[in-house]
Amino acid sequence: MAEISQHAQDMAARVEAFVREKIVPYEKDPRRDHHGAPTDELVMEMRGLAREAGVLTPHIHDDGAHMTQRETAVVLIKSGLSPLGPLACNTMAPDEGNMYLIGHVGSPELKARFLTPLVEGKARSAFFMTEPADWGGAGSDPSMMKTTCRKDGNHWVIDGRKTFITGAQGARVGIVMAASQEEDTKGGACMFLVDLPDPAIRIDEVPNTIDTSMPGGHATLTIDGLRVPADQMLGAPGEGFKYAQIRLSPARLSHCMRWLGSCIRAQEIASDYACRRHAFGKQLIEHEGVGFMLAENAILIQQCQLMIDWCAGVLDSGSLGTVESSMAKVSVSEALMKIADNCVQVLGGIGVTERTIVEQVFREIRAFRIYDGPTEVHKWSLAKHIRRTWRKAQEQQPA
Ligand SMILES: Cc1cc2nc3c(=O)[nH]c(=O)nc-3n(C[C@H](O)[C@H](O)[C@H](O)COP(=O)(O)OP(=O)(O)OC[C@H]3O[C@@H](n4cnc5c(N)ncnc54)[C@H](O)[C@@H]3O)c2cc1C
Repeated sequence: MAEISQHAQDMAARVEAFVREKIVPYEKDPRRDHHGAPTDELVMEMRGLAREAGVLTPHIHDDGAHMTQRETAVVLIKSGLSPLGPLACNTMAPDEGNMYLIGHVGSPELKARFLTPLVEGKARSAFFMTEPADWGGAGSDPSMMKTTCRKDGNHWVIDGRKTFITGAQGARVGIVMAASQEEDTKGGACMFLVDLPDPAIRIDEVPNTIDTSMPGGHATLTIDGLRVPADQMLGAPGEGFKYAQIRLSPARLSHCMRWLGSCIRAQEIASDYACRRHAFGKQLIEHEGVGFMLAENAILIQQCQLMIDWCAGVLDSGSLGTVESSMAKVSVSEALMKIADNCVQVLGGIGVTERTIVEQVFREIRAFRIYDGPTEVHKWSLAKHIRRTWRKAQEQQPA
């Protein structure tokens, strides 16, 4: 396994100092939208500071190449020390996963037009895959995709509905997935790069949700006759599900990285409280019930770090890492939920107030157990993998 470069280690230290010194104070900044997420004005102000500090988009090199996944992990964990850190440093979802995908699949022309403003932190993007349940569209099962695309001369025309599209409101770049109706690619999906906003994409609703870290919230929208020039297709027709896989493994792993950073911070806050606060004649931490929660957290944090590093190593070896990233997503998101819950409990009443960031971290992690694949769906697909492996072994046994 390749060593983590000195550059990545130095960058991680710079990102940590930046987030702790410059970004944590913004946690009390009132500039939030109706959904509770930071406004674009606030994001751009923090990005200006990140640019000055040399920590903007820290995981992408000047020549456009990405750090290895193991290197990305050491940097993104530090950016997550505040829920605002990834927004400030431009390591946030969905932009980070979208940049990865365009960087890996986009033509030089598409990269110049759509990727450059994202890497420069000047624009936001959105990934349009999930569809409303009440419309019978794709959710856990992407093969249920009902949004369609068909060729019309030199354009493709897209019609359908999407939901939970993070950041669609306010984004300048969209990656839209649709099922092809063309004979030669029927059943396959296509991906398109789209300039936003577009009058053919109508935002129907941005519901209030349990999480509040992502600008623009999570929109439900209707796509009505969206015309996209054929040269704005990302990759080849009918290959959309394959590209979704290219994006999904690193994207779900990067969620693990950022939210681990937030849970490390929550643990620091809870530990500080448990050492300062006294009850029944001694420090809280001296009570076994409290001390054991913090000890359990310390163990889980270490396990998450190992799981992320292991999965990152698999991706760095060139594998799609579908099985491994499912394992990492389940184990890390479930562990982080426990860590966040323990931190709330250790803080007593303060734990459920906005006086510390712990309350937000708890809410964010709850949502993380659902997006990028709910725990049950990953376990179900892992069980299918186990069954396939068993069947293969049976077939290879001599008769
Ligand atoms: C905060 C947030 C942000 C999101 N951002 C985006 C985004 O930017 N772009 C985008 O395209 N999507 C996004 N999503 C959508 C997300 O990917 C879906 O919510 C997720 O894939 C689940 O789909 P669903 O909500 O339709 O749940 P359903 O498919 O209706 O599933 C409901 C529940 O059923 C269970 N389940 C389903 N299948 C199985 C199975 N095979 N075995 C066992 N249990 C099962 C699971 O517990 C699951 O939670 C976001 C979601 C959230 C909550």
